Amino acid sequence: MLPVLYIVIPCYNEEEVLPITAPQFLAKLQQLAAEGKIAEKSRILFVDDGSRDKTWEIISRLAAEDTHFLGIRQSRNRGHQNAVLAGLMEAKDVCDITISIDCDGQDDVNAMDEMVDCWHDGCHIVYGVRRNRETDTFFKRTTAQGFYKLLRFFGVESVYNHADYRLVSSQALQAFSEFREVNLFLRGMFPLVGFKSTSVYYDRQERLAGESKYPLSKMLNLAIDGITSLSVKPLRMITMLGFFVAAISFLGVLWSIVQHIRGMTVAGWASMTCIICFVAGVQLVGIGVLGEYIGKIYLEVKGRPRYIISERTHREVSEE
Ligand code: UDP
Ligand code: MG
Repeated sequence: MLPVLYIVIPCYNEEEVLPITAPQFLAKLQQLAAEGKIAEKSRILFVDDGSRDKTWEIISRLAAEDTHFLGIRQSRNRGHQNAVLAGLMEAKDVCDITISIDCDGQDDVNAMDEMVDCWHDGCHIVYGVRRNRETDTFFKRTTAQGFYKLLRFFGVESVYNHADYRLVSSQALQAFSEFREVNLFLRGMFPLVGFKSTSVYYDRQERLAGESKYPLSKMLNLAIDGITSLSVKPLRMITMLGFFVAAISFLGVLWSIVQHIRGMTVAGWASMTCIICFVAGVQLVGIGVLGEYIGKIYLEVKGRPRYIISERTHREVSEE
């Protein structure tokens, strides 16, 4: 039996690029079906992440024109990661494989052929990895690569230069749905699911139209979320730093006692001030990091839904 493929595509204010890329996705789906790699029932599932422009109108129109297109709409903008999750969870019970991809045409759809081949070879997760970043601006390239290095430094297992272009089997998604956390960093979470996995390499293009929806502020948020959601290394580093500072302080105490005995304590103002400032600074950093984790615990404890779908272009999965 041929596998049913769902291509999951998050869209946020993408009215400019959707009319260009939607036919490309459809052509790829039909080509894969014609080659006998996937079933005819395969679909393209757009997730509108609470767009303010005409994105949902475009998705609805596409769905009305061609049954291969489906759409779901989040009730408000929740961010890229939550949009991808909403699409994957929507698809997991009705398909055999999913491929998540951005809607801006940057990720080469032709890599899907190889991804599906890998699935036929028994892989459950296939990571799309950018071969180079020549088409990215210098700023985007350096910040993004710094981001991956930072993740690795903090002990987060993730695939270098892999964003969210990936194939995941429904079996791996069922396992993934057991991850109940609210703070999502999908590319760091999928390696935790396990299963046989591999990487497929592709060249990343420039965005076909519109502007990036990932300004530096969102990227920084993603980096901080990625590290604090998946690693406790920052906490451990604070502890180590604490030990280090404590050891130095001990020497400082010995030194000040010696100075006192020698009757030279008057000239100690500068050093005292330095020490107080330093310790206060270290403590503030420590409290900040703790706060970061406590904030996460707070969010997890509330257990809010991770996405809410307000509309569909098709009937709900359970009704079928
Ligand atoms: N996106 C989203 N919600 C957001 C921001 C972005 O669903 O809040 C989608 C966007 O429509 C695109 C993908 O995430 O399909 C990646 O965004 P973008 O191409 O702007 O990021 P970049 O490639 O510049 O990192
Ligand atoms: Mg992009």
